[in-house]
Amino acid sequence: LTILNEIEQLPADALFGIKQRYGQDDRATKVDLGIGAYRDNTGKPWLLPAVRAAEQKIHSDVATYNHEYLPITGLPALTKGAAQVLFGEELVNEHSDRIVTVQSISGTGALHIAAKFLSKFFSSKKIYLSDPTWANHKAIFEAQGLTTTTYPYWNAATKSLRFQEFLHAIETAPEGSVFVLHACAHNPTGLDPTEEQWTELIDAIAKYDHIALFDSAYQGFASGSLSKDAYAVRLGMKKLALASPILVCQSFAKNVGMYGERVGCFHIVLPNQSEETTAVVKPAVQSQLAKIVRSEVSNPPAYGAKIVGTILADDVLTNQWYTDMITMSSRIQTMRVSLRNALINLKTPGTWDHIVEQCGMFSFTGLSPEMVKRLEEEHAVYMVGSGRASIAGLNEGNVEYVANAIDEVVR
Ligand code: PLP
Repeated sequence: LTILNEIEQLPADALFGIKQRYGQDDRATKVDLGIGAYRDNTGKPWLLPAVRAAEQKIHSDVATYNHEYLPITGLPALTKGAAQVLFGEELVNEHSDRIVTVQSISGTGALHIAAKFLSKFFSSKKIYLSDPTWANHKAIFEAQGLTTTTYPYWNAATKSLRFQEFLHAIETAPEGSVFVLHACAHNPTGLDPTEEQWTELIDAIAKYDHIALFDSAYQGFASGSLSKDAYAVRLGMKKLALASPILVCQSFAKNVGMYGERVGCFHIVLPNQSEETTAVVKPAVQSQLAKIVRSEVSNPPAYGAKIVGTILADDVLTNQWYTDMITMSSRIQTMRVSLRNALINLKTPGTWDHIVEQCGMFSFTGLSPEMVKRLEEEHAVYMVGSGRASIAGLNEGNVEYVANAIDEVVR
């Protein structure tokens, strides 16, 4: 009992705390730019037409519509389709013998499986995270006893990538370190390396035998194209998975709008070794991942997996999804332009082009924690203390209001 009495109360999760405060705020003009969840032009969650169609298809198939357990490693239609979305058909066909995939509890669960796997087999490795990164990265890896550190990423003064310093971190890290890379649409900065920069970064990772762990939570949101946004992962697969494995954590929360259904996959691409070696390594790795899944969730959740699996197995639905992806990414891009233009029209002190130049769901606005606090208290505009705004929360009805609020707190 005394142990219980001594348990320390932790502060509320920063992001979900914002959601809670927003929910309790009764000001009619309130705007939620906190959590990275897509909203339509009326500020409502959007059920993707591809998802609606897949649900109808699943429900109408009375012979197979049920709530039975899935296999431990997940629904084959999902794991197979997910690998194809990520790596592309060509690379999957060429290297299918080296790809191991298991279904996960969305992107967070995939990172958790990665952390468990690394802590079991690569426990001495340091985990390098971008500075800054998604807050949960550090917590997920450290919860498995792994040591994390950071590599330079964002230059706040110039709102650009600390490319040379990033490269230097790769070159000076102990050989065989693990680099966690945001596959695209970096959270929170909205800033990705260019294709040329990716090539240099990945070549350096290969040179020092580091392990790349790609976190792919926003595929499609950077450019609107799922294949374009897989550039870094595919380059990594071609260049890196020679001597070292690559790990990929894939979420369908954002790009299929399946936030609460927790649909994701964890992939390991095995190093390119002889057929005989791969034939032994692959089932061994597969069995270890299955053991992790079995001991933690027994088998993964079925409903969301069936929806995404159905979309990926049906060309018509897949094409609908590509269209839905463009609908989401282009609306966000339009809002970036509207916000930037409104701030320029107001002659708000500072430069605002970075809002348009950044990609994905977020803008790292450059607003200070004090400004963010005033935005919330005085204008009911909610965003993360770091100045990260989820652009998906903007719409034609509130963008002018948000621009005026920003203008007021910046002056
Ligand atoms: N990785 C990054 C960079 C994220 O921003 C998120 C969600 O915000 C995730 C992973 C995991 O999200 P989920 O577990 O909802 O798929």
